[in-house]
Amino acid sequence: MLERGEVANSWRRERWDSLRLLTPNWQSRLPGLRYEGPDPDGYMTAGEVSEFIERFAKVSRAPVRTGVNVTSVRRAGEGYQVTTSRGEIHARTVVIASGACNEPSVPQFSGAVPASVEQVTPFGYRGPAQLPDGGVLVVGASATGVQLASELRRSGRPVTLSVGEHVRLPRTYRGRDVLWWMDASGLWDQRYDEVEDLTRARRLPSPQLVGTPERATLDLNALTAMGVELVGRWAAVRDGRALFSGGLRNVFSLADLKMARLLGIFDEWARGEGLDGDLEAPERGAPTPVPQSSRLQLDLRSGEIRSIVWATGYRPDYRWLDVPVVDAKGQLHHDGGVVNSPGLYALGLPVLRRRKSTFICGIEDDAREVIGHLAGFLAERR
Ligand SMILES: Cc1cc2nc3c(=O)[nH]c(=O)nc-3n(C[C@H](O)[C@H](O)[C@H](O)COP(=O)(O)OP(=O)(O)OC[C@H]3O[C@@H](n4cnc5c(N)ncnc54)[C@H](O)[C@@H]3O)c2cc1C
Repeated sequence: MLERGEVANSWRRERWDSLRLLTPNWQSRLPGLRYEGPDPDGYMTAGEVSEFIERFAKVSRAPVRTGVNVTSVRRAGEGYQVTTSRGEIHARTVVIASGACNEPSVPQFSGAVPASVEQVTPFGYRGPAQLPDGGVLVVGASATGVQLASELRRSGRPVTLSVGEHVRLPRTYRGRDVLWWMDASGLWDQRYDEVEDLTRARRLPSPQLVGTPERATLDLNALTAMGVELVGRWAAVRDGRALFSGGLRNVFSLADLKMARLLGIFDEWARGEGLDGDLEAPERGAPTPVPQSSRLQLDLRSGEIRSIVWATGYRPDYRWLDVPVVDAKGQLHHDGGVVNSPGLYALGLPVLRRRKSTFICGIEDDAREVIGHLAGFLAERR
């Protein structure tokens, strides 16, 4: 196992200070290692995630070589030639487990933002103190965006949040964590070859969730109540002005509709399992009200906005992969982790083999199946 940094590098170097997992502690499961602390319904801090993964590396006796950067993988003979910062390796098979979130994904028009406005991505952001006083424009309303908008608003700054397509979820539903429902109802176990629109499922933004001791819901209604101003999706910069789309009504009602549909599936499952008596009554959160008039543009030269936080998603980095298996959008082509190049595999990508593949708890089942395929491949060659 080659790692360019340290074990749990992304959790040590690429997360902001206040970040906690949005998955509850009991859901942090790795093969042979589970959370066994006093707070199974709590949410780990980034530091605790690093410790958890480090412990896993020890108990699983993973043969990790840290500080080894892979700079090229290319096909050679029966296998692959792997060039690293510490020399060459020939491997019959290669498993790409380099992560789905290596870089923040920022729109090109960020280059047209006036220089007087500071720009930061979640990889560079540590906490509010690092940003200049004054207004902040947070772009993107998925897990990262809503969490940072809330933290920055609590620091006393005026916050504007640019909202595109998003996934709304309550933190708890009928008294249980919403991710308990995903897990218990079997929705997270849905296989990639059963998902209707796999490309879309793999691109789905992360849900609007935060892990706090209060188990608070952090949807757009919660942010509006805190005083965050909502504007539409940021479409372009023209003459120093940010131009936002006006389709908030559609975006809000789509997210409300999808949430209601999901909660309906949970209710149906609970009824079928005879659990209704053990759970609180079904409920639906208030719809997301559309602001009377949302601003369609913001003059970035006026001084109202002093900084921009790009919470517009993450993307993988395969610049080191010299095998033609990456599409024009930079995504790896694979069928459930089996890449279309003999002996090449992938793990740790969204909806790789199941809906839960996106999360830490998804790796055990995925790894078993992908490594099963890999072992079969080697056996055949032998
Ligand atoms: C902001 C954020 C919040 C998240 N919150 C949750 C959550 O609440 N719950 C949850 O279950 N999941 C969460 N996830 C997803 C989570 O990151 C993954 O589930 C998990 O960390 C993925 O592990 P991984 O090992 O596949 O990828 P990574 O953690 O990205 O690890 C990949 C490793 O590969 C190394 N690497 C990359 N390229 C090279 C190279 N060329 N040479 C050598 N080494 C290389 C990197 O240094 C890195 O250490 C979150 C992700 C992000 C970005």
